[in-house]
Amino acid sequence: MHIVIIGSGVAGVSFAEKYRALSADDDITLVTREHDGYYSRPLLSRGFSKADIEQSIILKPFDKLRENNINVLCGVEVTAINRVGKSIAINGSCQEKELQYDKLILAPGSSAFIPPPFRLYEKLFFSLNSLVDLKALRKFRQGFLSQNQRPDWAIVGGGLIGCEVASDLAAAGDKVTLFHAVDRLMERQLAAEDSALLLKVLQDSGVKVLLNQAVQEFIKEEDKVCVRTEVTAEFDGLIVACGFKPRTELAELAGLETGRGIKVTPYLQTSDESIYALGDVAELPNGKLYAFILPIRSQALWLAEFLAGQKQDGWTPPVFTTKAKVHGFEAVHPYNV
Ligand SMILES: Cc1cc2nc3c(=O)[nH]c(=O)nc-3n(C[C@H](O)[C@H](O)[C@H](O)COP(=O)(O)OP(=O)(O)OC[C@H]3O[C@@H](n4cnc5c(N)ncnc54)[C@H](O)[C@@H]3O)c2cc1C
Repeated sequence: MHIVIIGSGVAGVSFAEKYRALSADDDITLVTREHDGYYSRPLLSRGFSKADIEQSIILKPFDKLRENNINVLCGVEVTAINRVGKSIAINGSCQEKELQYDKLILAPGSSAFIPPPFRLYEKLFFSLNSLVDLKALRKFRQGFLSQNQRPDWAIVGGGLIGCEVASDLAAAGDKVTLFHAVDRLMERQLAAEDSALLLKVLQDSGVKVLLNQAVQEFIKEEDKVCVRTEVTAEFDGLIVACGFKPRTELAELAGLETGRGIKVTPYLQTSDESIYALGDVAELPNGKLYAFILPIRSQALWLAEFLAGQKQDGWTPPVFTTKAKVHGFEAVHPYNV
């Protein structure tokens, strides 16, 4: 049997390794657009205060997976799924342009969600969703540091990632203004009391937090970028952190059932019985996406065992919690996940 996996995040890599451990004979191919290896996405938000991050973030080079008899095609883009012919089309520097599969595992993760009004200005801002994004941000920042200057940042979005990035840039010594649309930070995950505590921790670290700010547009002014709310303020760099969007495009093109994510059964099976989905992209029958490391690893291990014939019951989410990686902040109440 040939198992093809799309994506080299925690979902794809954990599945590949576990399945290889359970089955020595089947062929496993993992296809990814990444170049640098399997890395820790949560560590992206510590990307400014840690000097060696571009190396220390790598959890496993792709050659380590290859040594484990997992064929890795990296730096390539999967462009289509042909469900009738059971193949995927790939684009990149490898020789293969098409790969046949018996089982296809979709683990393409999520991209940064950019609210429609901001899409016009995509050249004016950064987001922080991948190692490529982090490297671009660090390169931009280095331009200031090498002239003994500190960039003045605007971050739009006071959710988990916006708060973490604001905190880390401030810890690294930069000037940060955080714009949030509603009246408290991380309102979806935190109790009101913890939002207030988080606000204080960020303010004490030097972050200027502006709540109830409906950002209307961004304007390029020579080497500055302006953020327009009721007033207009100018910054050196702008980061949009408004949540994530599951990468459902390939599945949609292939006619699989999708909602917010790719719809799966409790067996992580999509509407095509040869295709499974897991990780940030998978939408369970309860309508939930489990976009955190712990449940995704659990899905990956469960799916490997299921396909190896070692599990009969469907996947059930483990009890888990999360934590904002904001320097100096500990929530009093449990997070809403
Ligand atoms: C800044 C940040 C901080 C976070 N902090 C935490 C935290 O503290 N705790 C926590 O539990 N979670 C955290 N998360 C969420 C967690 O990282 C994700 O839920 C998890 O990494 C998702 O894993 P995944 O394997 O589903 O997807 P991904 O990690 O997104 O991996 C998908 C891979 O597929 C590749 N791919 C996609 N489409 C294609 C294609 N067409 N062709 C080829 N390759 C493709 C992508 O390039 C990517 O490498 C954080 C996320 C971010 C962005």
